[in-house]
Amino acid sequence: MNVLVINCGSSSLKFQLINSESEDVLAKGLCERIGIEGSQLVYQPAGGEKEITKADMPTHTQAIQMVLDALINEKTGVIQKLDEIGAVGHRLVHGGEKFACSTVINDEVLAAVESCNDLAPLHNPANLIGVRACQELMPNVPMVGVFDTAFHQTMPEKAYLYGLPYEYYEKYKVRRYGFHGTSHSYVSKRAAELEGKPYEEVKTIVCHLGNGASVCAVKNGKSVDTSMGLTPLEGLLMGTRSGDIDPGAMEFIAKKEDKDIYQIMEILNKKSGVFGVSGISSDFRDLEQACKENNPAGPRAMDAFNYRVAKYIGAYTAAMNGVDVICFTAGVGENDPDNRKAICEYLGFLGVEIDDAANKVRGKEQLISTASSKVKVYCLPTNEELAIARETVALVR
Ligand code: AMP
Repeated sequence: MNVLVINCGSSSLKFQLINSESEDVLAKGLCERIGIEGSQLVYQPAGGEKEITKADMPTHTQAIQMVLDALINEKTGVIQKLDEIGAVGHRLVHGGEKFACSTVINDEVLAAVESCNDLAPLHNPANLIGVRACQELMPNVPMVGVFDTAFHQTMPEKAYLYGLPYEYYEKYKVRRYGFHGTSHSYVSKRAAELEGKPYEEVKTIVCHLGNGASVCAVKNGKSVDTSMGLTPLEGLLMGTRSGDIDPGAMEFIAKKEDKDIYQIMEILNKKSGVFGVSGISSDFRDLEQACKENNPAGPRAMDAFNYRVAKYIGAYTAAMNGVDVICFTAGVGENDPDNRKAICEYLGFLGVEIDDAANKVRGKEQLISTASSKVKVYCLPTNEELAIARETVALVR
């Protein structure tokens, strides 16, 4: 079956068409600047050149229509008719406490996702626009929603409750939810496969280190804790997000700089993290360059980032009473040997030993720990689209 995987944002839409039997990507691309002047479709068939088509896309429906036209286009298309698309898998960000797994989308599900919009006002409404646009254009094709939060619904109460008055949880469901669930689930499962062990018998810590970053403790196939919270702001230092912070520091800055809560949130989300600490860039490649040029801003941000990741690994080892496998994934985790090495240097107390030659790897599955290391460490590329396609097929079948 061919599955169209859609990740819809407010003004952009990423897609992949995946053959679920071979798990090959037949075509992929993105629509940019939907509803804004200068919109374009970037389309790439497997083995072919990237093609950029500039065209007005006032709505998401028009954007998806362009994607469908490209998929069946005589020259660059990869299927002949739209009925060769057997299902659509949608990445949905926040399922609150309502969704502990992926689900076939119907009116009831759409209403339930809509009721979670408050929890992710930037993401959920945009995701739903994508679902409705696909329904309009492909009314007979089954659609599945795969939630970023669902994998973490197995977290115990002690891990998901904030130290706040309990009434805020009761009234508004203010609690920790976690994100990147599709990635943490995919990577931890793959690690168990590589180890040749049943998923239900492995303790894994997944470090998803990208522009957004989170760590997850997966004990016997279940997420028992993760570093992001009600929103993706909690936890690690990220590209531009602060991660964990004393709220008192924000009151202090608000008073000194005469800022309101919205301005403070803007600082925490967009101007902090390694970007804020370095004052240079949110991109780790730029920070590496700064390190090479002996600019102290580079190591200042990198050290703060790595230290925070190592602290979470230590905490999650305690949460699981041990760890068998540590995985590094996403943009930084897959591509930055220096960061992996620096993080693992904190973990000598666990018996972690990195094999420097193996750790040179970028973007490929590779065991990077030595044969004598007490914990296995992997570089393990994530594949959220494939995970969404697999979930979609499993539910549609
Ligand atoms: P992601 O959010 O997973 O797409 O990750 C994006 C981030 O990965 C970028 O902002 C970079 O900081 C980082 N990244 C990508 N490639 C490399 C690389 N070769 N070396 C170091 N960092 C990288």
